[in-house]
Amino acid sequence: MDSIDFKKLISEVNRIGRELPAVLHQLPVLPERELEYREGAYGVTELLSCPVKAEIRRELKEAGVELPVESQEIEDGFLYENLVKLALASLYGEKFTPEKLLSYDLEVDGEVFKIDGHLDCFLEFDDKVVGIELKHTNLNFDNELTDKPPQLIVLPPNDRSRINLNYRYYKQVQIQRHLLEKLYPHKKVETYLMVKTQLRTKYKLGKTTVVLPVTESVTEEELKNLCRLFRTEKKPRARWECKLCAYREHGYCSGHEETVEAEELTEDRSELVTSLLSRRKELLAELKMIEDQLKKLISGSVTWNGQQVGWIEKVSYTYDLPKLSKLLKAKGLKAADYFQVKTAKIKELEELLGDEIETVREKKLKKRFVLPR
Ligand code: SF4
Repeated sequence: MDSIDFKKLISEVNRIGRELPAVLHQLPVLPERELEYREGAYGVTELLSCPVKAEIRRELKEAGVELPVESQEIEDGFLYENLVKLALASLYGEKFTPEKLLSYDLEVDGEVFKIDGHLDCFLEFDDKVVGIELKHTNLNFDNELTDKPPQLIVLPPNDRSRINLNYRYYKQVQIQRHLLEKLYPHKKVETYLMVKTQLRTKYKLGKTTVVLPVTESVTEEELKNLCRLFRTEKKPRARWECKLCAYREHGYCSGHEETVEAEELTEDRSELVTSLLSRRKELLAELKMIEDQLKKLISGSVTWNGQQVGWIEKVSYTYDLPKLSKLLKAKGLKAADYFQVKTAKIKELEELLGDEIETVREKKLKKRFVLPR
């Protein structure tokens, strides 16, 4: 039985949200987004991101430089995080700690690697500790649901097959879970990824909160490998990282040319690509169904949005090409200026003319984005 009643939590978030103007003044009492680290320590998110960011973060801190706040956080996400924290504080009182610092020293190849994880929500009970990582995303797809998404969806533990939640977020919670297990060896550990998102189901779109219980931690060896990679691979971990980087935006880094993803992160993209391609296939099938229905319903043509749609007559012509060619020649014109080689006939031409075809054609390379039919 989970310790957190997520249904009750969402009701409390909604209640506080309804009183938003009244609670806005309370938000600054919550910890500042500027996170504190021990000397030489790195955060869990930093371990999963471009290590250059962590270096710049340190340098700026030493120089006492602060980036403008708007470049560091998305307003909606910030508000949502604060609402959940206020709701947890209201429901669990002193058992709840926001931005709990999880400090852990890991020996990697004879050197200590200091990790300072900042867990969004931490709750401590007599027999267990609970960690909740909060995220806010613009869009996710539900591969099962057809109707409007409910306010809350609790997924089976570790199961991201139905709703594709970011692999990095999942990995982040797995690391936090490992840290909690190390720091609270005598207590049971429960960890959750809680994501507020716009969820697209087969026919509807709606805001929802998705909760994924994470019951598997990273292994100590996996964590060590991440630390090794962090020390040696000083480049972005995802293709989009430079594009969204606040340090690039503010001129502290010019970005990395070759933005290759680390192996640990490729699964994320391949899952999302699979999910989007399946979704596209479904939408195409749905579009075909809609078009078939419209063809049956409209027997003539109708005006819609100022445009004629339906069965509309269109004139087309077929030409007697040899005669047309002669006509053009008689007028001193070149037939080649008016004709095109038919795509369907290219193979036949290649077979007919052999290598000679290369004397009348020029090769051009063009990149196209191809999607399945
Ligand atoms: S711009 Fe790219 S390389 Fe530079 S810190 Fe940001 S993510 Fe890293």
